[in-house]
Amino acid sequence: MDPHEFKASEPSAQMDRPVATRKVVDCSEHPSASNCSLRISGTEDEVLSAAIAHATSPTHGHQDSPELRESIRQIMHDEHGA
Ligand SMILES: [Zn+2]
Repeated sequence: MDPHEFKASEPSAQMDRPVATRKVVDCSEHPSASNCSLRISGTEDEVLSAAIAHATSPTHGHQDSPELRESIRQIMHDEHGA
């Protein structure tokens, strides 16, 4: 037993959390009847909830549904450095 060999259990060294990619939903890229040009960017969760709130607002008048969420995910894309 060499005391110098003692290894303290290291605290988790995984401090490098992945940088969340910002997502964008751009209404103007998405064919809609309302000619809307709103652009929403943020984390995926933020964009999704904001886009749902927007899509279900009188501007678009959609109904919240799994299909709506799916279509929002389909038009969501990574934000590129401007
Ligand atoms: Zn819109």
